[in-house]
Amino acid sequence: MEKKGILTVVSGFSGAGKGTLMKELLARYPETYALSISATTRNPREGEVDGREYFFKTREEFEKMIAKDELIEYAKYVENYYGTPRDYVETKLDEGKDVILEIEIQGALKVKEAFPDTLLLFVTPPTAGELKNRLIGRGTETMDVIESRMRRACEEAEGMDRYDYLVINDDLEECVERMHEIIRGEHDRSFRNKEFMKSIKEDLERLKGED
Ligand code: 5GP
Repeated sequence: MEKKGILTVVSGFSGAGKGTLMKELLARYPETYALSISATTRNPREGEVDGREYFFKTREEFEKMIAKDELIEYAKYVENYYGTPRDYVETKLDEGKDVILEIEIQGALKVKEAFPDTLLLFVTPPTAGELKNRLIGRGTETMDVIESRMRRACEEAEGMDRYDYLVINDDLEECVERMHEIIRGEHDRSFRNKEFMKSIKEDLERLKGED
């Protein structure tokens, strides 16, 4: 039976290690997952490549994408726009891939509203102190940006309980496997197997009358 993939949203505080987690998950299970690449108006960080980490857009280009309904969702985060291109997500889900969106909470809730079957995962470091250390250690942000990201983390923490699962990123290896298990298990939820249930019920009815 042809099965559509599961749309999974991964959110978490900036600096929680989501990026590394996603890369590792994709590297281990390239046939299972597809990672959506977002569009953004923020400037590339050192080492980031257009079309790999993000599609880097001007504000005008981004606003055009919004007007043409080319984004599933978009949000403003620390003065920049971020959004999920529609085409890629729909194509990959149809191909049966589990598509992962690594997006912040406003976007996550919008996706859930538009596609109620979306699985929401929230990644958090084990402690708040650890988060601040990771942001400073990254060395790519100014102190101002770090502070605004910590403030934003406080706001985002308010929405954690709207996610289906919390994933504590203590150890990368374990965290990747846990995430994979959660998504795999999700395929067995009854509401995701309506076709199967329908056909087995029909077969049972048929076989019942055959004795
Ligand atoms: P960063 O600038 O650190 O790459 O990302 C900042 C935040 O924007 C992160 O929380 C990231 O998950 C989120 N983000 C990345 N892409 C998207 C997107 O397409 N839509 C939304 N709503 N948030 C996104």
